[in-house]
Amino acid sequence: MRVQVVIIGGGPSGLLLGQLLHQKGIDTLVLERKTRDYVLGRIRAGVLEVGFVNLMREAGVAKRMERESFIHGGTVISYEDMQFGINFEALTGNHVVVYGQTEVTRDLYDARAAVGAKTVFNTEHVEIHGADSDAPYVTYQVDGTEHRVDCDYVAGCDGFHGISRQSIPLTVRREYEKVYPFGWLGILSETPPVNDELIYAGSDRGFALCSMRNANLSRYYIQCSLSDHAEDWTDAAFWQELKRRIPAEAAERLVTGPSIEKSIAPLRSFVCEPMRWGRLFLCGDAAHIVPPTGAKGLNTAASDIHYLYHALVQVYETGETEGINRYSEKALARVWKTQRFSWWMTTLLHRFPHQSEFDLKVQKAEIAFLRDSRDAQTVLAQNYVGLPY
Ligand SMILES: Cc1cc2nc3c(=O)[nH]c(=O)nc-3n(C[C@H](O)[C@H](O)[C@H](O)COP(=O)(O)OP(=O)(O)OC[C@H]3O[C@@H](n4cnc5c(N)ncnc54)[C@H](O)[C@@H]3O)c2cc1C
Repeated sequence: MRVQVVIIGGGPSGLLLGQLLHQKGIDTLVLERKTRDYVLGRIRAGVLEVGFVNLMREAGVAKRMERESFIHGGTVISYEDMQFGINFEALTGNHVVVYGQTEVTRDLYDARAAVGAKTVFNTEHVEIHGADSDAPYVTYQVDGTEHRVDCDYVAGCDGFHGISRQSIPLTVRREYEKVYPFGWLGILSETPPVNDELIYAGSDRGFALCSMRNANLSRYYIQCSLSDHAEDWTDAAFWQELKRRIPAEAAERLVTGPSIEKSIAPLRSFVCEPMRWGRLFLCGDAAHIVPPTGAKGLNTAASDIHYLYHALVQVYETGETEGINRYSEKALARVWKTQRFSWWMTTLLHRFPHQSEFDLKVQKAEIAFLRDSRDAQTVLAQNYVGLPY
């Protein structure tokens, strides 16, 4: 079998790239290790930059998103006795869109199926061969049968635990990592969100986030210990702890209910350089991870896809290789800015073990500066709504 681009990983990065390339008549094969239902069952991101939404439009898959998503023109920051809003629209003229990653992925799978583009699920032993040659190919197994697909390019969109990054030799690859000494315990509940906008709360008991998916589906997180297990947290204990960390008036009006999903995610910053090796291009979580505090994971995956999509269209339409030659450099320049922002938001709002009295005073002063300075708020807002591609 031969296709122009093999895409390893059927998460949002791989599917979005596949759909964009399809619009330009470029043939792709998506190889996904799990089933479609398994991928759709993963509850993850929910805050999208307008750049992401525009890519969905360009891919022709934004209709349901335009109908069902929510525009958020700002957010609330709370820290001990300080509570204030950051008005993205007033500060930047821009906003973010709330629409779950599950829905994005569903729309992309439906669109892929509707145009008859090829996806193979339940793939095992995926291997990339000859990425540094002019004739790369990928082998994989399904139900014990070996398959081979020849291609021009390979897009490694297989997430943090995928094989694409590992295919770049250690002599070429450099990895940068920061692991945070806490995790996020998150729940999804069929209850109305406590607030129209997200609430980011720092407190002496640790961080909490009030987020949402729709008018009757809320997503809440609390900072937890890395040694905690989600199954040890009863719903009642979760709600009680959340109420102690968010502003009192929000705690009073919080509607609680049974959780329909509960999980713990560790927090990590990670970047792999370069993001290209020969004819292999890494995109999204395969190349970088951020702590979710700034809502940048999925959005940074989308900016990679933007650069790679344009680079591939350029090479297929004009033969010009400038885009693919500069892919890694362009993507990484934006990746490191989103890394900086995510690290900063995480440091600003979480309690760290061994934080001294001095550290806490500085943290509080930084929040007060943010509350009082329009310039500081503008910097936050610019990063939150998304830096330009
Ligand atoms: C628990 C959790 C919560 C998160 N919350 C947020 C949030 O609130 N906001 C935010 O912006 N981001 C969040 N993120 C990050 C966001 O979900 C990711 O950045 C996003 O999923 C990246 O998309 P991706 O397609 O690059 O990778 P993934 O979504 O990981 O998709 C990769 C795909 O590749 C497949 N795969 C892996 N290995 C192979 C292989 N060998 N062969 C074939 N297929 C393979 C996987 O099954 C998967 O379907 C969260 C992440 C996690 C884990």
